[in-house]
Amino acid sequence: MSLCESILQIVEEESIRQSFRKVSEVHLAIGALAGVELEALKFSFDVVVQHSLAAGAVLHIEIVPAIGHCPVCGQKVVMESRYDACSRCGEYGLQLESGNDMRITHLEVQ
Ligand SMILES: [Zn+2]
Repeated sequence: MSLCESILQIVEEESIRQSFRKVSEVHLAIGALAGVELEALKFSFDVVVQHSLAAGAVLHIEIVPAIGHCPVCGQKVVMESRYDACSRCGEYGLQLESGNDMRITHLEVQ
């Protein structure tokens, strides 16, 4: 299942739970290291939702910084890439704690 199809599935499940019939805005928080191609996501979103309750919905994307935990000094640091060294002690082996996933933060519904 593509990313957009899983977004749509979540939206459809929410529409049943909260009983709305139309979605005008979808707000996403995407981790900086989630590996999501934003342009591809925006393009396929429009295609995937075109015959759904989210047809024509505007996609808002917020990029969330990736945070890693350093097993050596115990510090939490912002990671620019998966293989960053700890910005505090310089050791490698940071454990990615957040910023590698994607979630829906808000739905504007009618
Ligand atoms: Zn460290």
